[in-house]
Formats: sequence, C-alpha cells, structure tokens
Amino acid sequence: MSAELEQLTEAIESRLAGLDRIGIGEEGFTRLAWTDEDAAAARWFTEQATELGLTVERDRAGNLWAIPHVPAPWFTVGSHLDTVRDGGRYDGALGVACAFEIAAASDKPLAVVSFADEEGGRYNSPTFGSRALVGRLDVPEALDRTDADGVSLRQAMTEAGVDPALLASATEDLSRVKAMIEIHIDQSRELFEAGAAAGVVSSLASRMRLAVEILGEADHAGTTRREERRDAMAAAARLIVSALDLAEPNPGFVVTPGKLLVEPNAPTTVPSRVQLWLDARATAPELLEKWRAELEQGAQLIAAAGRVEIAIETAAHSLGVVFDERVREALQAAAVANGSSADAVVCFAGHDAGVIGEQRPAGMVLVRNERGVSHSGAEYVEVADAAVATRIVIDAIEELA
Ligand SMILES: [Zn+2]
Repeated sequence: MSAELEQLTEAIESRLAGLDRIGIGEEGFTRLAWTDEDAAAARWFTEQATELGLTVERDRAGNLWAIPHVPAPWFTVGSHLDTVRDGGRYDGALGVACAFEIAAASDKPLAVVSFADEEGGRYNSPTFGSRALVGRLDVPEALDRTDADGVSLRQAMTEAGVDPALLASATEDLSRVKAMIEIHIDQSRELFEAGAAAGVVSSLASRMRLAVEILGEADHAGTTRREERRDAMAAAARLIVSALDLAEPNPGFVVTPGKLLVEPNAPTTVPSRVQLWLDARATAPELLEKWRAELEQGAQLIAAAGRVEIAIETAAHSLGVVFDERVREALQAAAVANGSSADAVVCFAGHDAGVIGEQRPAGMVLVRNERGVSHSGAEYVEVADAAVATRIVIDAIEELA
C-alpha cells in the first residue's frame, strides 16, 4: 500500500473510532433517527466539520450539512449516520467518514451531508431525508406515523429540534446540491468475488412490493372434506412458490416473501385469511412488470382451484435509478487509475444517492465486503479498501468539478 493510502486509511479509521461508542450494544449499533444517539452522532459530525473549517447546518428535513464558504449549489459527498437496530459499524458511517476525508483532500469547495433517517428503522420511512428533498415524501402521512412506543414522527422531530411544520418545504433545500457522490459498504459479495477493493455502481435495481390478501373460510381441520375447504394458507403457499418460480429464469431477480399474517392462526383450524407481502427486485423495471402480470394470472388459477379470493396490490414500486453517465464515467476512470477496475455493479438496496440521483447528477462507489453481511453487528470491511474508494471519489471530483 502506498504511504498516501496508508495515511488515508488511518484518517478514516480515526474518524470512525469517534462513532464507536455511540449506540453500541451487545449485538451491534443502534442509532435510530431523532434519538439521543442520533444527536450524539450529530455532535461527532459537527466536530469533523469544524476541524475542516466547514459550517454545520441542518436543513428542513433534518439532514446535516457541513458546508464550505462559497454559495450553493455544492458538489456534495456523504451518506448517513443512523443505523438499523443492532446494525453494523460501517453502513452509512463509513460513507460520512470518507466524505470528510474527501472534503479535506480536495481543493474544490465540497459539502458533506449526513441524510436523516436513511434506514427508516423507527418509522419504517427509509431514505426519509433524501426523499424529503426530492419531494417524494407524503409529508402529512409521514408526520402522523408512530414508533413502537406510540411517539409520532411529528413529536420526535420536534424533540430533536427540527420543526415538522417546515418539512414540506424541504424540497427547496435540494437547490444546495449540484451533484452528489456516496461511498457505501457493499451489501453483497460481488466486489469481493470480482477481486476489487471498490466498485462503481451503474444503477439501483428496480423494486416492487406487493401486498396480497387471500380470503378463505375458517373451518374444522378434521371434519372439513378436501373439496369443501377454502384454505387461505394453502393458497398462499402456492402463490409464494409461483412468485419464486416466475423469477427463477433470471439470475439477478430476487423475490422475498418477507411477511405473512394468518387468521385465525390456530393449529386445528383451516385458515380463513392470509396477508402476504412479496418484495421483488430486478435489474430492469420491465422484468418486474412481466413478473407481476404472470403472478396475477397464476393467482387466478390458484384462487379458482382453492375456492379462495386473492387480491394483489402494489404497495410500493420504484423503477430504479440509472446513475448520471458523466459521474459514472469519471468514477469508473478513477477506479481504473486506482487499480480497482471491476465492472460497474447494479445495487439491489435503496440509497440516498439513488433518491438524489432522480433529480441531480449522482453516483455511488461501494466498498468490498468479503462476507457480504450488513445490517448486523457482524458487518465488516477493510478500511484500506474504503481508502481506495475515497481516492477514487477525490480523483473523479477533480475531473468533474
Ligand atoms: Zn446505508
């Protein structure tokens, strides 16, 4: 490793170490949005910014900014400091730590951002801060949401010192961003398998979440003859298998039957009602559309055969984002120049850079993750790999700015 990379590695590690005690528990880190841990992370952010002579501001969505002394818009680098419950050391935090090193090394005036509530761990509102900026947040609905303790987002934001009445006008804060680049831990083993320390993301995968309701009829598990049954659970099982099988021909297509609610949920009663959630992700939106149409056809056959009713609703749908070509090319060229020349990867998780990328030029660099584990205390990256990613972004910004 070159002396410069070694120095960069140490600097990133030392910044990360400053976050090591914030929200640490037995199983990992818990820094949910609008909590004391979130506020402690914000104090860390302020320390990093002040050292570099940047001014800290919080925008109307609660995003933290370390801004240079030139008027907006700025070339922006960053990620997020919140975690899921029992999350890892690197998801989000690594990108913010690297962003401060990028700002320190670059001779261009850069802004560092830490987006509010990226994980959505408390209000099921992932990429909250970036969606507020691009106007993709249903503000009244979001503010009324409550956490597990019954605290509304409106109340939590107020207690954290962010005025919820201004949230709807956070869209005006997007004008701060000229372009954005995010460094993030790879949440798959793709870069490790490609033998690259860091890799450029070409696009974020298309995603679809389906909410399925299946209505049958509760009856006795012993005395109800097979041809009389209206078994909602048996139909759900067939639908799950069908959803997985339909995705099968495409290796990059993943389907997760993540949640199932059964009524009456009794061992000796034919189930009368099932609610099922299916999460599907693919490299292109057309693949999801085709899958959904075929699933709908299959559902009709399953419903007829099982004498049940099946209603499939699209609960969430994102076409995915193709990152800005110029940013991508600059990052790819810098990756090659820094000896980390994997093919550009498609990322299957949602990220703030993807949200911002809907309206501004944006890009992402992922850092190799040998085991592919994330959202867990066991999450791990070599910080030396993050130093390579940092170098790639510094060089790319030199080219772009
Ligand atoms: Zn993240």
